[in-house]
Amino acid sequence: MFENEENVDVTEERREQEEKQEEKNQEQQENQQDKEEMKQEEKQEVKKSEEEKQETKEKKPPRFVFNCIKGCGKCCERWDEVPVYISDIQRWIRDGSLNYVLPFLQIKEINQFSVQLVLKRNKEENDTNPSGCPLYDHENKICNLYYSMPIHCSAYPLAFNGQKYFLADKEECPGLGNGKMTKEWLNTCKSRAQEHFNSQGSTMGVLSILYGLILGHIMKKSQEAMEQLSEEDRKKIDELLAKSKGEKEEEKDTSSEKNE
Ligand code: SF4
Ligand code: SF4
Repeated sequence: MFENEENVDVTEERREQEEKQEEKNQEQQENQQDKEEMKQEEKQEVKKSEEEKQETKEKKPPRFVFNCIKGCGKCCERWDEVPVYISDIQRWIRDGSLNYVLPFLQIKEINQFSVQLVLKRNKEENDTNPSGCPLYDHENKICNLYYSMPIHCSAYPLAFNGQKYFLADKEECPGLGNGKMTKEWLNTCKSRAQEHFNSQGSTMGVLSILYGLILGHIMKKSQEAMEQLSEEDRKKIDELLAKSKGEKEEEKDTSSEKNE
């Protein structure tokens, strides 16, 4: 009788242990499932936020949208002086525009230490368009040097300071926000702004080089013109030079006689 009772106790204990183990296993399993679910939820959250970010990026318009409006000319009418850089002079020598531009080139004093080359209108009494850039055709509202305009103009209205891009000024430019901005066009605008920034740096303090370039061009053109002169024209020039030399020597003699 005692032996049987003992057996029953052992079986009961084992059963309890097994139940406990089973509960424990179940609990562990549930924990594992919870963890998996949480991981899945986290993954979904990350995916959702990435999708939202992408969507916002796609919806958000590019910050710089610009397409110049044909016939606007607001900036050309506003700029009385257009800065000119070494790269502009070099390009104009290459494409043959320098002769056209030369009459409008002027030296502007920035401060007591530096000067700048600018395109500036020579104000004349009969000038019907005394304001704005000298190359601007007010009547037809176009730039007379459209295909080789200064880098200052082709970069406008985007500017670059070596680190970031920004709007060149706060003046109204109707081209801002106009039309669509393709990736290629944005890159072109950026590279023009960079070129403008680099030109500013490379032109500082090298005005003598600019002079050299311009004078070299003028001399080359004069030489070409001389070579194309007819024999008759050359004789006339020689006669004029000889006459002027004779007059100068006569003047010299008269003044030395007076001094005696
Ligand atoms: S050079 Fe041409 S684009 Fe530049 S301001 Fe003058 S007219 Fe306008
Ligand atoms: S750059 Fe702007 S202000 Fe200048 S002509 Fe174009 S739209 Fe007009």
